[in-house]
Amino acid sequence: MRLDLDSVAVALGGRTILDHVSLTVHTGQFLALAGPNGSGKSTLLRTVYRARRPHSGTVRVDGRDLWSVPAAETARHIGVLMQEQHTGFEFTVAETVALGRTPHLGLFDRLTRADHEAIGDALDRTGLTSFAGRRVGELSGGERRRVLLARALAQQPRLLVLDEPTNHLDLRHQLELLELVRGLGVTVIAALHSLDLAATYADTTAVLRDGRLVAHGPPAEVLTPETIGAVFGVDATVHHDDGVPRFVLRPRCVCPDDCHWSCRTRRSAGVGADAG
Ligand code: ADP
Ligand code: MG
Repeated sequence: MRLDLDSVAVALGGRTILDHVSLTVHTGQFLALAGPNGSGKSTLLRTVYRARRPHSGTVRVDGRDLWSVPAAETARHIGVLMQEQHTGFEFTVAETVALGRTPHLGLFDRLTRADHEAIGDALDRTGLTSFAGRRVGELSGGERRRVLLARALAQQPRLLVLDEPTNHLDLRHQLELLELVRGLGVTVIAALHSLDLAATYADTTAVLRDGRLVAHGPPAEVLTPETIGAVFGVDATVHHDDGVPRFVLRPRCVCPDDCHWSCRTRRSAGVGADAG
C-alpha cells in the first residue's frame, strides 16, 4: 500500500503541530520518522491511522484520500502499534491477539479457520505461542508490547503504523521486532528514537523538528552530523559499518572547559575535547 502525505497541517490549541508535511512511502517500503520529543511524530502517525484529521492537506492510501475511504476498510488495511496503548489486562494473550481479526469480521461472525491461522501465525512470529493462555496483566512491559504487535500482525495489514515500537523491548527483541516487520514486505511508517535502528532497517528517514519536515531521504543522506546537531542539539560522529551509518552521540559541548561527564571521559582517554 502506498502512502502519500501532501502538505498535511495540524493545529491544536492554537499552535501549529504539523506544518505542511509532504512525504511518500512507496509500497513495501519502510519509512523511519525521527525527531525530538514534541516534534510531531505521534501526531503525524495519528493522521495516517485516521485518529486525527488534518486541518489542511491530504493523506492518501493507494492514491485515495484516507477520509473518503470507508472507515471499516481502512481498519482492515492499516495496522497500528501506538506509543501508549492500553489493553484489557484481564484478557489472555490469545484473546488480545484475536482482536486483530475484528475488522475482518461481520457483527455476528465467528472466527474461521483462516482467522485462527492468522492468530497462530502472529503468535508464532512474535515468539508468544507459549504465552497464549497467560493474562496480559501478568506480562512485562516488553512482552505486552509484543502482544500488541502480534495483534497488529493478526490483522494482516497492508500498512503498519508503529509509534516507537521498540519501547520497553530488550536489545534482542528490538532487533527481532524490526527484522520481523521488515520481513513482512508491507509498507511501514515507524517513529524510532534510535538512529542506528533507523539506518539499519529503514529505506528512508524523515526528520521532524517543531512540526516541520527538515529532511527526508535515504538514512545515509539524511542522518548527517549537521542535521543531527541542528535537530537534536547533540554532537554526532558518523561511522560506516558496511555502508550502514552508525552514530556516536555526545551532548553538545560549547564551553572551553570539560563541562560534561562525557568530555572528561574522552579527555582522560586521550581524545581532544573539541574533536569531532
Ligand atoms: P512526538 O510524538 O514527536 O513527541 P507529538 O506529536 O506527541 O510529538 O506532539 C507534538 C506537539 O503537539 C507537542 O508539543 C504536544 O504537546 C502537542 N500536542 C499533542 N497532542 C495535543 C493535543 N491534543 N492538544 C494540544 N497539543 C497537543
Ligand atoms: Mg510521540
